[in-house]
Order: sequence, then structure tokens, then C-alpha cells
Amino acid sequence: MVKAIVGANWGDEGKGKVTDLLSETSDIVVRFQGGANAGHTIINDYGKFALHLIPSGACNPGTMNIIGSGVALDIPELMEEVKAITAAGVPAPKLMISDRVQLLMPYHILQDTYEEERLAGNAFGSTKSGIAPFYSDKYAKNGIQINELFDEDSLKAHLQNICTLKNALFVHLYHKDPLDPDVLFAQLMEWREMIRPYVGNVHQYLKEAVAAGKTVLLEGQLGSLKDPDYGIYPMTTSSHTLAGFGCVGAGIAPKDLSQVYVVTKAYSSAVGAGEFVSELFGSEAEELRRRGGDAGEYGAKTGRPRRVGWFDAVATRYGCEVQGATDVVLTCLDVMGYLDEIKVCVGYEIDGEVTRDFPVTPLLKKAKPVYATLPGWKTDVRGITSWDALPAEAKGYVEYLQNEIGCPITMVSTGPKRHEIIMR
Ligand code: GDP
Repeated sequence: MVKAIVGANWGDEGKGKVTDLLSETSDIVVRFQGGANAGHTIINDYGKFALHLIPSGACNPGTMNIIGSGVALDIPELMEEVKAITAAGVPAPKLMISDRVQLLMPYHILQDTYEEERLAGNAFGSTKSGIAPFYSDKYAKNGIQINELFDEDSLKAHLQNICTLKNALFVHLYHKDPLDPDVLFAQLMEWREMIRPYVGNVHQYLKEAVAAGKTVLLEGQLGSLKDPDYGIYPMTTSSHTLAGFGCVGAGIAPKDLSQVYVVTKAYSSAVGAGEFVSELFGSEAEELRRRGGDAGEYGAKTGRPRRVGWFDAVATRYGCEVQGATDVVLTCLDVMGYLDEIKVCVGYEIDGEVTRDFPVTPLLKKAKPVYATLPGWKTDVRGITSWDALPAEAKGYVEYLQNEIGCPITMVSTGPKRHEIIMR
């Protein structure tokens, strides 16, 4: 059985916690897109970990963790994460890297940094992890698949060509030092020895696992609104964040994907720039930010304060639809317990008309939120694991959101720890 766990919104919905929880009963967890540019926070018996690249099953002994072909693989970052979790006492994770995955190179990080510098006031607010240049190169057929590390002559020629292209940019556009293909080659040979034991034929492995009835989790990074086609382009990421792409980026047949868990928070949060219709500002935002997440709403990768706002039902319904949600997981319900009243954005007013449909970016820029107001519950529900134990107003809030989204909310998370969850 194959399940996907993906985000409905701008990312940071709490997917890491849910994946960590579901990975307990899964044989395999696969990352299928993105790179080390975002993070999952997981808290379990070994401690608290900000994982960027390694799949969230890494802390479960016995779970196979796979880096699928759709990922931007930053080898030193992955090895650092393995080191960090094993240093905390987690048994060495079972890890497999697709022999078709491409390498995030040091020059991608440089290019990302130089380009943001060049754009200055118009910069994207990139995490400068090299993701946009990586995917540009991949689709321009100029990327390096990991299998090339084992074909030295061809790799040398490829690096020569890459440096010719990159140096035109680096020297003449950005006025920086040129790249040296020999230095890059030596670096890659070092990295090759670090990852050699893990590289394998993931497609074959997953085909056999699915046939044998194993449970496979596809783990998405970021969320629907960061997808380059369906999100708030161009303030998106550069890889597809949708479950549909999960099949491609992991290497499984679409017919095998039977459950899509879409994670959303009980309020909205976003890190980085881009449209966010129900955003809060001032002291209301400050308070929600301070109380949000497990230790305030600050980016797992950058430490940047996250933007926060009321639950956006327009964006979330759309976000769940484009993911093909079978289940919705609502996280951070516990955070809302301090509010007398809670607003939910149920429509966008654009040019004097109210719509419930999520629009394209130029219209989204004009959208003003239309709110419904619900009563708060003024109770601490942190750690509650039974639906019946929730106050009536909290149940009412969850049911209201479920009705707005149009898909069953089958799990409600009431705290950052693994088992702080209500299964409905
Ligand atoms: P991801 O990228 O979707 O995995 O999300 P992050 O891990 O970056 O952000 C979610 C934050 O919320 C983390 O700090 C989690 O520990 C925290 N979190 C997850 N679920 C809950 C919850 O139900 N309640 C609270 N208070 N925090 C949660």
C-alpha cells in the first residue's frame, strides 16, 4: 500500500510530525522532491530534530528511508543529518539513494546566492540552498545524475562543459571567481565514497516492495501553494509539491497510490514572500507567532519568523483538491486555545465580487479576505487524544473546517509530540 503525506498550503503544516508518526507502521519512507531548502521538525524519544533532507522515518529502526530521483541531493547535507541523529543515539538509519537522483552542486548554491544579490530589492527570498539553479540545470539537461560518479571519464568531460557555461555567468554577469572543473571533480570523488553504500535501483526496490504488500509513505516537502504550476507562481519552489508528482519522483505507478494525507494547520503560516490573503499583522500576529508550532513560528531551515494568519479555507480547499486528498490532517489545534473568537477566511473579494475559488496570481494579489467568526474554546487541549474529550467549540471548529474543505479530517494533532493526536 502506498500513501502520500503532503502539504495543503505554503509548507510547515506539520508534515514531519505526521510522517514520523505514520512511519512507525510503514516499511519504507520516500522523499520525492525538493532538497535541503525546507525542514521538518520531529520530536520523539531521542530528542528534537530539524531534518532537511533525510526522510522522516530516519528515527524508526527498521524503516527504510529512500531519497527518490525527484530530490535535489546535497550529499554533505545528507551525511551531516545522518551524523546528527546517530550522535543523539538513534541507530544508524537504513538509507537508499536512487541511482537516478541528481546532485545539488556547490555552484548551485553560489548561483542562487549571486542571483539573489543581483535581484537585490526584487529577490525571491530564497533560502540560497541552490534549489532553483539545480532544477533549471536538471530540465536543461545539464545536471549530474549520481550514477555519473562511477563513470570518471564522462564525468570529467561533463564538468568541463558545465564550467564553460557557468563561468560565462559567474565571471561576466555576477563578476565572481570562475569555477575549476578539477576542483569539482576531486570534490565529487570524495562524496562518491560517502554515498557509495547507499546508491541503488529504487524503482526496482519499490516495485518489489509494493508487490510484496509493504507499506510505503511518500513524503512531500512544502505544500500545494508552492507548486510551480498550481501555486502562487513565481513565489513558489522549483519542484512539484503534489502527490501526483510523488509517483514520478519516487518511482512508483500512479495506480499504486491509494491514500493521500494532506496536512494543514488550524491557522495559516508561511515563510518567505508571496501572496497570503488571510495574513495577520501587529500584536495579533505576534501573539499567534509566539504561541504557534512547538516553540513559536520560526522557519526550521532559516530561523526566520513565519508569517501567520487565520485559517484560509479558500486556499486550503484548493490545496487539498490539487493534491487529491483522501484524508485531511489538522495540526496545531492546541495553539488556538487562547482566543475568544476565531476567524476563518471563507471567501476572497476580488474587484467587488466574492469567490470561493483560488485564483491565478494577478487576481490573488487583489484578493481581500471575507471572514466567518467562530467561538473559541478558551481551554488548553494540548496532548488530548480522544475526540470526545475536546470542548464542544473545538469540535465545532474542526467540523466547520472539514465542511469548508470538503474532505474528511481524519486526524487532529494537539501537540508537537508523536502521540499527541486524535484519530477520528
Ligand atoms: P513541516 O515542514 O510540514 O514538517 O512542518 P514543520 O515541522 O516545519 O513545522 C511545524 C511545526 O509545528 C513544528 O515546530 C512542529 O513541531 C510543530 N507541530 C506539529 N504539530 C503540532 C501540533 O499539533 N501542535 C503544536 N503546538 N505544534 C505542532
